[in-house]
Amino acid sequence: MVEVLEQFAPVASRIKILPDLLVNKIAAGEVIERPASVVKELIENSLDAGAGRIALIVDDGGRQLIRVVDNGCGMNEEELRLCVLPHATSKLLSDEDLGAIRTMGFRGEALASIAAVSHLRIASRMVGAIEGREVRMSGDQFEACGATGCAVGTSIEVRDLFFNMPARRKFLRGGSTEVGHINEQFARLALSHPQVGMELTVNSRTTQNLPSGQSRLERISRFYGPELAAALMHISRSERGLTIDAYAAPPVHSRATPQWQYIFVNGRFIRDRHIAHAVKESYRGLMEPSRHAVVFLFLEIDPEQVDVNVHPTKVEVRWADSNLVYSQVLSALRETFQRADLVTPLRFRPRGDSIDSVEEERMRAELAAVLKEAGPTPNSGAFSPSTDSRFATDRASQSDPSALPASMADAERLWRSFYASPAAPQVEAYSDLSRASGAPIDPSATQVDRFDSHIANLIPPRAIQMHNLYLVAESDDGIVIIDQHALHERVMYEQFRERFTNGTLESQRMLLPETMRLTPEQSALLDANAELLRKLGIELTPFGADSVAIHSFPALMKDADVQEFMRDLFDRLAQSAGETQTEVVVHRVLDLMACKAAVKAGDSLTQEEIQSLMAKRHLIEKSTSCPHGRPTILRLTKTDLNRQFKRT
Ligand code: ADP
Ligand code: MG
Repeated sequence: MVEVLEQFAPVASRIKILPDLLVNKIAAGEVIERPASVVKELIENSLDAGAGRIALIVDDGGRQLIRVVDNGCGMNEEELRLCVLPHATSKLLSDEDLGAIRTMGFRGEALASIAAVSHLRIASRMVGAIEGREVRMSGDQFEACGATGCAVGTSIEVRDLFFNMPARRKFLRGGSTEVGHINEQFARLALSHPQVGMELTVNSRTTQNLPSGQSRLERISRFYGPELAAALMHISRSERGLTIDAYAAPPVHSRATPQWQYIFVNGRFIRDRHIAHAVKESYRGLMEPSRHAVVFLFLEIDPEQVDVNVHPTKVEVRWADSNLVYSQVLSALRETFQRADLVTPLRFRPRGDSIDSVEEERMRAELAAVLKEAGPTPNSGAFSPSTDSRFATDRASQSDPSALPASMADAERLWRSFYASPAAPQVEAYSDLSRASGAPIDPSATQVDRFDSHIANLIPPRAIQMHNLYLVAESDDGIVIIDQHALHERVMYEQFRERFTNGTLESQRMLLPETMRLTPEQSALLDANAELLRKLGIELTPFGADSVAIHSFPALMKDADVQEFMRDLFDRLAQSAGETQTEVVVHRVLDLMACKAAVKAGDSLTQEEIQSLMAKRHLIEKSTSCPHGRPTILRLTKTDLNRQFKRT
């Protein structure tokens, strides 16, 4: 009997609805990872409130205090009480609104999440109100509410972040690491909202004071230095509903990590693989494949064409038409690079002892001092020791001293000097900043003139061949050394591209058709790319069950081995099988053809061939690198020579 009763006795349910604080803490875990996340959410709220000035104050890497003060629209008492509740927002009215977000926030969870894991005080005053109101919260409990004296706008203070989540709090890094993340968030928001005045104060020191009404370029200059800003190429286009305003650095400014690629959509910083791929592709051939370009892309698109509600911190988006975004970004960048003159002169570093011992001693002392000041982990995320040493050696020290906190600027400079390892290549490329001006590049005649005269200076009439590999010639201010294969390949590429763009490549009929066996994959590739092959001037007919006969071939490739070329072509088409952009496939194929058609390293050239190659030099608009990213031309100035011979 007892047994039976037990069997039917209601067992307490193991499933429970979580208490609010726990729910909010869990939500906070997603949105609020570290102090920088709070900074992002609060500044975004100020921007949404229409603020014209925003001040951010941070103590102890944000662990002790994060305060954001704005002069935006403010809140009344009821709004103050509501804003800290979960799912409380003024930015969404209906579920249709979710399809076209025009504000930075919309989920109504940031303040509730922050409130759940900190001591929060919000003071706010609306225009026309006689006084301000404030609320205080602690771990999502209201502590106080009442009148307070404050200026029009809102001031939000977050103290003791994660005080009730010991595991999280312990997880926070040293102050300088958190400051690094905060700087990065601040920079992203300041770059995307240059019209808003912004100020950053870290441990009572104002490290950024950005006036309102700046341009994007001015903001870039503030954060990344005037040298980089001066070198940037400006790109601006608006087509098919996508407006692109971009600043792209010449390839010599490339970095070892993609960290300096900033993408903004409708004022929001995002990471996006489609755009990252388009950027990579646009620099192809101009830069070693392992390097990353420095670009700032500002995109504007109808909010209905982009879903920002796919990621907890909204840093990823989903496009209605990712192909459109990809192809527009790719072509805007590529066209600019094709018009730009990206020749790099060379700089020689003294062999071996690149840093003399006295200088090294001095820098070690300086570094030690900086490390002491910056705390135990000086290499905040943003400026790690692996940072590339090729990027203008002394950027930080030359740039606006207010651009970075002094100790970080110094630390970065010193890291650079130290990690410019003596084992690095002795020859180092740098950009001639005077040439790569920040002015928008236009395709007009002046641009062409400037290019021609530049090339005329660069390429003198006579050159000699060395080791059947290099062409060496005197230039106005030194010596140029040209890789014969790379130059010819570049020349051929431009010719192929020009002809391809204008129609079909001239083809030459073969005296005897070449037959070639195909694998089933190759047959499939052939079907899929029939039109491309036709445009390339390659004419084929089926020949037996599994072979084709090749009847004609591009005239410019008359010396190439047909079978070998076709095999490589199939390989390239196979590689590009998933590629939706025909433009990309065409580029790869033309690149292959140029390589095959060009004179090889080791080919001995007659004086006429050398001269005609040198003369054809003007055909290429962009140079410095072959399509595989190796340099095509090295330039040694008289100054470099004099230094090497100790004539200075
Ligand atoms: P969301 O930004 O997604 O709406 P939040 O939790 O960040 O959610 O903010 C909740 C609401 O509080 C906002 O919708 C807004 O109405 C109000 N609010 C927050 N910060 C400010 C501010 N600085 N100025 C004016 N109103 C603000
Ligand atoms: Mg918000």
